[in-house]
Amino acid sequence: MDHQLRRRALGARLGDLGVDAVLVTRLVNVRYLTGFTGSNAQAIVLADDTVFLTDGRYVEQAGREVPDIERLSYHEHYRDLVAGHVASEGLARLGFEADDLSVAAHEKLAGHFDGVQLVPLQGAVEALRAVKDDDERELIRRAQAATDAVFEDLLDLLAVGMSEQQVARELERLLRDEGADGPSFDSIVAFGENAAEPHHEPAHRLLEEGDVVKLDFGGLVEGYHADMTRTVAFGASGSELRKIHDVVREAQQAGIDAVRSGATGATVDAACRGVIDAAGYGDRFVHGTGHGVGLEIHEAPWLGRAKEQPLPAGAVVTVEPGIYVPGLGGVRIEDMVEVTDEGGRVVGTSTRDLIEL
Ligand code: ZN
Ligand code: ZN
Repeated sequence: MDHQLRRRALGARLGDLGVDAVLVTRLVNVRYLTGFTGSNAQAIVLADDTVFLTDGRYVEQAGREVPDIERLSYHEHYRDLVAGHVASEGLARLGFEADDLSVAAHEKLAGHFDGVQLVPLQGAVEALRAVKDDDERELIRRAQAATDAVFEDLLDLLAVGMSEQQVARELERLLRDEGADGPSFDSIVAFGENAAEPHHEPAHRLLEEGDVVKLDFGGLVEGYHADMTRTVAFGASGSELRKIHDVVREAQQAGIDAVRSGATGATVDAACRGVIDAAGYGDRFVHGTGHGVGLEIHEAPWLGRAKEQPLPAGAVVTVEPGIYVPGLGGVRIEDMVEVTDEGGRVVGTSTRDLIEL
């Protein structure tokens, strides 16, 4: 990972952002810019220089993980150090991450400055993170490879009488067995009518013959996430659920086909929604079409009705249409897709056809 390149890319944007430096407080952004994996750190990114801040607990770890930049540590809070550095560099305009700093934290920070303007920024680092480099794409592929392997393993384990929670625990165990560091989020496991809830929390429902099984899960590898959903039929499923699976399968393919650099999230969303609308299930597709995946499970860019930002080449996004019918069940099919100039490239290898066990 070339963290220095990332800091330079942010440094090169300071003029456009109208600031002399950015105080980065979102931990995931600090990780992206420096490689630090601990639970508390900040960074001040100037045009050609960065200062890393953490508290006393992480001095050793920071020395290992962030050997290449100036490091400062504090006992209680970073505010004094930031104020001191801003004063010594003679900075007039300091950007801060408005999505991260609470109103109270901002007020306290402002109290440390005299004659320095605090400038709210939104998505400055996230926009850089949206475009993955080769190392990041490789980690995402490894996370997905574990996810694909676990899906296969799990199909052999499903049996009448297992609970949703049991299956969720199996998923998490298998992910570690298949080389992931763990699950990338709390797995969604829904049987039968519970699959009508898009984000059902696994509970005590027991698997029965004729249920659909909706699995939304993924592996985590060195901080990078995978995200996949499959809905399989356990025993003979009803004709309406088969039809719904066909529609979602077709909608997802239309979405994948619409992915390319320059297309907007709204274009991909409309491609999926068009298929589902035409089949008469338009009001049953109750969420957006997808999201970026990387150091966070949900990150920019976003795919949905009003997402007019063009997708950049190098982004990795999910395409995950679904149809949910209360009382009956639901189907979602989700894959991560790399955005290229030529089109969308599906990262995973698991079949998207209906599996009947
Ligand atoms: Zn998912
Ligand atoms: Zn997702």
